Amino acid sequence: MKQELEEQLYNKYPKLFKQRKLPMTQTAMCFGLECGSGWFDIVDRMCSLIQGHIDQSRSSAFYAKEYNRVLRQAINGNDRNLRFRYKKFGHKDEVIEEYVKRDIENKPFRQPFREVAPQVEFTQIKEKFGTLRAYITGGDEYCHGIISMAVSMSAITCEECGMPGKQRGGGWIMTLCDNCEEARKTRKFK
Ligand SMILES: [Zn+2]
Repeated sequence: MKQELEEQLYNKYPKLFKQRKLPMTQTAMCFGLECGSGWFDIVDRMCSLIQGHIDQSRSSAFYAKEYNRVLRQAINGNDRNLRFRYKKFGHKDEVIEEYVKRDIENKPFRQPFREVAPQVEFTQIKEKFGTLRAYITGGDEYCHGIISMAVSMSAITCEECGMPGKQRGGGWIMTLCDNCEEARKTRKFK
């Protein structure tokens, strides 16, 4: 992938690409993104969904913990923080009164929306047999699902220019659009 596009992704998702600075004895990410620039959008969307998922799982756990803390305080006789919490969300005083009373009565302690997924780090991103390959540490099933989707999109997207493409045979399998396939016959890519 073009250097400037790689840099864009590294800057946008520093946590996902943390391993790019590690030596090759520890990661394959040090070789950069070993695929064509036409897959930039696919890699970008994949990263966005994965990091978004990780961040969301953390904030959901954080808010549940925060709520449980102020609810416990309220049950023990100090409802100041619980009131303040509802006020922060823009509720009117009379409604807050009702909510606080209801919470103290029902004790609706919260579970995080989902388990906190460990931060994902890519260990390798490359092209193989005409499709994208992405290997990670961390994450959960959702993250692997996103990678599967990215791989399947790469199989119908020109690796050179990003237009709709299909797999081309020959000694070296590539996914290309008609124009780039024509160009490949007259010059070498990469
Ligand atoms: Zn193309």
